[in-house]
Amino acid sequence: MARLIVISDVHANLQALEAVLAAAGDHDPGGFVVCGDLVGYGADPGPVLERLFELPLRSMVAGNHDLAAVGRFPVEWFNDIAAEALRWTADQLPPHLLDALRGLEASERSTEGLVVHGSVVEPASEYLMPEESQAATRSFDAEGFDRCFFGHTHVPTVFIRSPDGTVGGRAMREGERLDLEPGSRYLLNPGSVGQPRDGSPRAAFLVVDTEAASAEWRRAAYPVEEAQARIRSAGLPRVLADRLALGR
Ligand code: ZN
Repeated sequence: MARLIVISDVHANLQALEAVLAAAGDHDPGGFVVCGDLVGYGADPGPVLERLFELPLRSMVAGNHDLAAVGRFPVEWFNDIAAEALRWTADQLPPHLLDALRGLEASERSTEGLVVHGSVVEPASEYLMPEESQAATRSFDAEGFDRCFFGHTHVPTVFIRSPDGTVGGRAMREGERLDLEPGSRYLLNPGSVGQPRDGSPRAAFLVVDTEAASAEWRRAAYPVEEAQARIRSAGLPRVLADRLALGR
């Protein structure tokens, strides 16, 4: 069987998404899982959505930014810069893409596992940072699953619940690989395609080999200056362009 490519938090960054899809091509991708925040912050929401919907999707959920763009999550929840980008995003999208976004939920069961944006407990909004094992424990307790894919923090992360019930979490670096042991349960975050926040500007993705039962955290370099120029010429807040070069 071919491999599963898991991505999250594309945030309307077309240049980063194209780099990830090209890099994913080397891993014989059989399907894609997308953990939400397809839009918001970046300058190409329409082209990014068109590209995502044409992928061989196993599952795609909505994030808080996607839901807010179609009026299903309060814009007041966001800081001023994110809210400004959201209003701009909603204005850019044609009716058929707004309808497509409205059709997505923040949590979905697929044959590959559970897929959520934030957490199992609060799929649209709770952050599972690598050091927050207690929050992860609540997610493990909330529903039955062997593997759950999530995003939202923009930090490549794994939480493992061992057969003895202990839960441990950590951030994952580029190139790290993990064997998925039978009997253990996993919460897996690929990191962000379009706005990484772990100090590396390179676009993040996760390769899951379902036969070998392993996961590998990967990064792809992309033309950051192009994405920055798109954000500036769209008139979006400049900080959204600046942070892409820092990976913050
Ligand atoms: Zn996000």
